[in-house]
Amino acid sequence: MRPEILTPLFADVAIVKGIGEKLAKLMAKLLRGDGGVARLVDVLFHLPTQVIDRRFRCTISQLPVSGVVTLEVTIGKHHPAPQGTRLPYKIDAFDETGHMVLSFFSAYADHMARNYPPGERRLISGEISWYGVEPQISHPDYVLRVDDAAKMPSIEPVYALTAGLSSKILQKAAAVALEKLPALAEWQDAAWLQKQAWPDFAAALHGEHRPTEVTPLGTRNLRRKRLAYDELLANQLALSLVRAQMKRAAGRRLSGTGALRAKLVARLPYSLTGAQSGALAEIVADMAADTRMIRLLQGDVGSGKTVVALLALAAAVESGAQGAFMVPTEILARQHLATLSKLVSGSGLRLGILTSREKGKAREELLQRLADGAIDVLIGTHALFQEGVQFRDLGLVVIDEQHRFGVHQRLALQAKAKHATDLLVMTATPIPRTLALTVYGDMDVSKITEKPAGRQPIDTRVMPISRMDDVIHGLQRSLALGARAYWVCPLVEESELVDLAAAEHRFSALDAQFPGKVGLIHGRLKGPAKDAVMAAFQSGALLLLVATTVIEVGVDVPEASIMVIENAERFGLAQLHQLRGRVGRGNAKSSCLLLYQDPLGETAKARLSIMRESEDGFRIAEEDMRLRGAGEMLGTLQAGLPLFKIADLTVDGELLAAVRDDAMLILNRDPSLTSARGQALRHLLYLFERDEAIKLLASG
Ligand code: ADP
Ligand code: MG
Repeated sequence: MRPEILTPLFADVAIVKGIGEKLAKLMAKLLRGDGGVARLVDVLFHLPTQVIDRRFRCTISQLPVSGVVTLEVTIGKHHPAPQGTRLPYKIDAFDETGHMVLSFFSAYADHMARNYPPGERRLISGEISWYGVEPQISHPDYVLRVDDAAKMPSIEPVYALTAGLSSKILQKAAAVALEKLPALAEWQDAAWLQKQAWPDFAAALHGEHRPTEVTPLGTRNLRRKRLAYDELLANQLALSLVRAQMKRAAGRRLSGTGALRAKLVARLPYSLTGAQSGALAEIVADMAADTRMIRLLQGDVGSGKTVVALLALAAAVESGAQGAFMVPTEILARQHLATLSKLVSGSGLRLGILTSREKGKAREELLQRLADGAIDVLIGTHALFQEGVQFRDLGLVVIDEQHRFGVHQRLALQAKAKHATDLLVMTATPIPRTLALTVYGDMDVSKITEKPAGRQPIDTRVMPISRMDDVIHGLQRSLALGARAYWVCPLVEESELVDLAAAEHRFSALDAQFPGKVGLIHGRLKGPAKDAVMAAFQSGALLLLVATTVIEVGVDVPEASIMVIENAERFGLAQLHQLRGRVGRGNAKSSCLLLYQDPLGETAKARLSIMRESEDGFRIAEEDMRLRGAGEMLGTLQAGLPLFKIADLTVDGELLAAVRDDAMLILNRDPSLTSARGQALRHLLYLFERDEAIKLLASG
């Protein structure tokens, strides 16, 4: 239970006067991204990106060439825009020293008359621009009666926004959030704080949202450092708590007989690569030990992680236990079921599937069989760990593409796998060790360093979207020869609906070219419809699959050999690499076309050329990080939900080492967070919503 003292901060932003349902929704979109409502705490941690200094006051004759100015003027004549033109509505303004113009696009006359009454004095603040020799302010930020000057902040915070929101709304919400911020006991070590010269938590938040000075660029902002450190510490503590509890639970030996594995390996249509065997040997040895396994399996896209997972699960089954195989999407769950069903048929291994789609009676029956032990391995989405799902004897949990799960799901999951369960986490995203520790906590790592033999390099080309006709002609030739292709449409807008419209538009254009041969798949499609489209593409009934990025992770149709990615410049390189990894899985020569929108900036150009030059996920990730910075790269690992709200690893990465030492020291001294500082740290965990870890403490 969250401590009561924090309750006010977790109130809905709709309690703020002036924020109705519509604004609250927009704020949820800006601040949550995971469908939850926006709360005051979200506003509190949405720090301003810059400040506007409105302190500079002058007369018209002293107006500078550019910048933000504040001045007192007398309002003059109005000049409405002539009907049917796109000219602005203009208002004259003057003082003793000269004349200037206020201009507005799409202005309402009565609104203008009310706000700018001719002959009256007004205080105006905004960005100055010059129209020849005439100074202008276009859309002033503030227009106030002279006695109301106090209503304008002289140093104003500016927030990152989404369409429909303004910084003023956020300022208002932040003011309320700051009011509700309770006095909290300090959770940081006093000596450390002093050494860093960091302010306390409340002072840091007040200073950020209510700046009273302009922090010069390039100076270390102590407030931000303090808050970033808080957030990183919360994350590290949570990970350490989860790990400590997992290690504390006695492990069990899952040594297995090897019989089932031998059967499965004998049936494989290929032999394992050396790298697969090596990783498997490490995993199996770890499972056989009487400590608990917490292991990360890293392997580039297409390196063949699935079969390694299957064999590890088989080892658990041989030992009389059950396994769970969790994946981030429904499509992937169905696909894994199909692939694995083929691989295990006749071996005696019994599979089941559980996603949000299994409901009612079928679900009941499945759960019964799971509890009876009539299912050996259950494949599914995070529905696997919902209430009421009881295994007879769960021995191994495999999590595929773990980076697609949010922080919450991840902590909840690891906290839930309570008994002596071994854990194997798989990811294709190669991330440097420091970042891995931040995302996953401390894990043992196995790597698959080579791909199955016989894979041909993917021919990657980068071309402007204006050459669409050539692309279509090329596709025509290939499809006529029986090739299968993906066509990926990007996330264009923040709105899913707009994206969908773009994909639908592309679909109809391509369908006109290749009637009856084109399918469309996207996140909003209902489960069975998704299956039908995937199945038709798999069977070859459809040759061209237009998709949003839902196909990014894990989809495996070895016959597909062409990947077209529209607006490739908008994707992260890791994502492009994942997408490209959907082809080049069979023996056919594969190609990937990266279409970009001209004109392309230098960095974007450099990024796309890396894709052309390399197919090595590690190298691509490294280059991506060099070009974009670690923070952004980590950001894209998180399925749209950034891991951190305040900390930015490109600049705060230097804090990580200290954070880790600190977390270790804290837990060594006070493993169940009961000391005074421990209690304060619990508040910290709740504030940054790493509180899943606290449940572990409560249950011991
Ligand atoms: P990922 O590591 O990206 O999850 P998959 O497990 O989906 O990769 O495997 C990619 C493809 O490679 C699949 O079609 C799979 O059947 C095939 N594959 C896996 N291991 C081998 C191997 N040793 N030899 C040949 N093909 C393999
Ligand atoms: Mg995979």
